[in-house]
Amino acid sequence: MATRLAHIPPTVFSEMSALALRTGALNLGQGFPDVDGPASVVRAARAALESGANQYAPGIGIPALRQAIARHQQRHYGLEVDPDREVVVTTGCTEAVAAALLGLVDPGDEVVVLEPYYDSYVAMLDMCGARRRPVTLRAPHFRPDPDDLRAAITDRTKLVLLNTPHNPTGTVLTREELQVVADLAIEHDVLVVTDEVYEHLVFDGRTHVPIATLPGMWERTLTLSSAGKSYSFTGWKVGWATGPAPLVQAVLAAKQWLTFTSGSPLQPAVAHALDHEPDWPGELARDLQSRRDLLCEGLVAAGLEPRVPEGTYFATTDVSHLGWADGRELCLALPERAGVVAIPTQGFYDDAEAGRQLVRWAFCKQPDVIAEGVRRLAAAD
Ligand code: GLN
Repeated sequence: MATRLAHIPPTVFSEMSALALRTGALNLGQGFPDVDGPASVVRAARAALESGANQYAPGIGIPALRQAIARHQQRHYGLEVDPDREVVVTTGCTEAVAAALLGLVDPGDEVVVLEPYYDSYVAMLDMCGARRRPVTLRAPHFRPDPDDLRAAITDRTKLVLLNTPHNPTGTVLTREELQVVADLAIEHDVLVVTDEVYEHLVFDGRTHVPIATLPGMWERTLTLSSAGKSYSFTGWKVGWATGPAPLVQAVLAAKQWLTFTSGSPLQPAVAHALDHEPDWPGELARDLQSRRDLLCEGLVAAGLEPRVPEGTYFATTDVSHLGWADGRELCLALPERAGVVAIPTQGFYDDAEAGRQLVRWAFCKQPDVIAEGVRRLAAAD
């Protein structure tokens, strides 16, 4: 294996889902819903499959989807996006992240990233030869410290890689926190790439603020998202990047050599979702909020103290309250001891101590699955 990959461990999501399959444990690890998204969207995919939408789509994405994405950005955030020059469709947000980094970062460039970070960021930054400058979100509140941000951004910084709502912590960055990043980005003339896949999954009346909507930020920001999380079709892998034409061109420049183009029959179906099921993600968020509460109450009953997440699919706990010094050790023992799988997040930190005791639990599952999971945890020794 190439040396640039050999030191990167296999993704913990596959490792833990395989463990769940092998042991028959309940999977509160990998973040995917156990109920599909809207039936009308599945019908739109079937219609596309049967009407011959089965050859290559344009690399940039079919016009109907790019237009629907532009309308979505307008409707929710007031952003005016040119569907022909400022949108590119990708194979999930993961490809959008990969193509954005490959398209913008040169070896040796510094990239500021919030840690704990989603694991693909680290792998991609390593593949790009970037230097990672983490800003640590520390338990129990998991908020970025403005001084840490200021210290991380220098004249060698190429871009800031943001993620809000944030996986795995569930933090939703406030307008004030985003303004700190925006001020620094403008002062140091750096770009922002922002992964907003959980944009609609926010709770307790919060609103998600795309940093691209802050003054002076559109022209330096690539905003990434996907249909997977908003419409509960994580396996479809239809994502997108929006931003000013030169940044979208950089994504496309890399994407054309990665996948060339993304799955054609799913693109009209996602366009249908965005145009004809605009309220579905908000309803999902309301439903998820009650499942978040069910999980968090159950975790408390099991002796844990979850940080109640503001958004996403996930709640994080410090498992030292159960007497475990190492979250990964607990997660490896948990299937046998309790019949439950969760995700240790220590691998998402450069600062290993900050993450050693943290474990992430997914609540994007049916209420009876969550109830059974926390019942098992409370009953475990
Ligand atoms: N984004 C999901 C999670 O964080 C799934 C990740 C994956 O399987 N790569 O759990």
